[in-house]
Amino acid sequence: MSAAAEIFPRAAKATRVADLRADFPALATQVNGKPLAYLDNAASTQRPQPVMDALRRYEVEMHANVHRGLHARSDQATAAFEGARKRTCAWLNAASAEEIVFTRGATESINLVARCMDARMGADSEILLTQMEHHSNIVPWQQLRERTGARIRVAPVLDSGALDLKALERLIGRNLKLIAVAHVSNAMGVINPVAEICRMARQAGVPVLIDGAQAAGHIPLDVQELGCDFYALSGHKMYAPTGIGALYARRPWLEEMPPFLGGGEMILEVRFDGTRYNAPPHKFEAGTPNISGAIGLGAAMDYLAAHGLERLAAIEHELLEYATERLDGIPGLRIIGTAAPKSAVVSFVMEDIHPHDLGTILDHEGVAIRAGHHCAMPLMERFGVPGTSRASFSFYNTRDEIDRLAGGIETARKLFG
Ligand code: PLP
Repeated sequence: MSAAAEIFPRAAKATRVADLRADFPALATQVNGKPLAYLDNAASTQRPQPVMDALRRYEVEMHANVHRGLHARSDQATAAFEGARKRTCAWLNAASAEEIVFTRGATESINLVARCMDARMGADSEILLTQMEHHSNIVPWQQLRERTGARIRVAPVLDSGALDLKALERLIGRNLKLIAVAHVSNAMGVINPVAEICRMARQAGVPVLIDGAQAAGHIPLDVQELGCDFYALSGHKMYAPTGIGALYARRPWLEEMPPFLGGGEMILEVRFDGTRYNAPPHKFEAGTPNISGAIGLGAAMDYLAAHGLERLAAIEHELLEYATERLDGIPGLRIIGTAAPKSAVVSFVMEDIHPHDLGTILDHEGVAIRAGHHCAMPLMERFGVPGTSRASFSFYNTRDEIDRLAGGIETARKLFG
């Protein structure tokens, strides 16, 4: 058996949510003396045992530095690391594993592209974003604006939370150099029509970067079918460890773009009068990479694939429908982002209750949600709210946990009412 095959064992097919939950030891813990109801999955998901087992096996049996050893352990670590790259390639259906660059996460993936685009930008260049972007898909472009003078255009969001696609299309003009758009809004769960956006952009010869942080563990992906140029993802939002993520970039971009960081791994030859860079993807991976993180990411993808991402997504959709129905009935509660299709996120505001107060009351009940601006301040401004409360679900959540969420909101309503 190859080293990669040894550390990516096929997870047994679970047929019930209870079996899936049993794979996640964190879900059996208590918080504030109550069983944990973990409804903060858009911020970070919990790790299943097969991912933790793969990490442990790597640490004990395989750890060594990659790409440079002349010994068996280094060969094994390299095979496992590169196996994870192939796994990520298959997950995204990229044309080749060389189109996958490992990064620290979606934030670094987007920064990498923004940093490497300077040569294409001038004072009349435009970057098109949307009003629902995470700060990770805003600030790197503002920094690019500071360096190059390029302008940022923003496609608006409708009252339903849907992207105003017609307005976006009108913003695709002669000077547009890139569209950067979230696949799924982290603050609302609204799924954007990214294939349609890519189609419109292609007609105008404009590249598209998709911020897939909220999509990659929940929606089956095919970057070739989508037709995007770049796709960014974070491991910790798809059941893998923190500190690992990936950037998919079409090969010609990786050839054209200059390296992001300099150092070891990304070179072929270094002399004081100049350096020859390594071929992509290594050209963009300076220094010792997060080897165990990449292996954990591969193991997480294997776990999701073994259970069937479509099947897991169907469980999440059913939870979304139940939660929407339960919360919609609570007086004074307004859901922000009602447009279909949605991923399993319910973001809401309560009359007379600050999201932070609600979050604290729920925490006392063992119910973990996120409260605040969700790193999407421009979207909060669009809806005229300082922040929202956000419950975000994974296939391992249950109706009972949603009932506890609704019960906690009712308690808060009585306290503040
Ligand atoms: N983009 C979106 C839509 C997100 O939800 C997040 C994190 O919440 C990010 C980007 C940044 O991800 P990370 O912090 O893992 O780099």
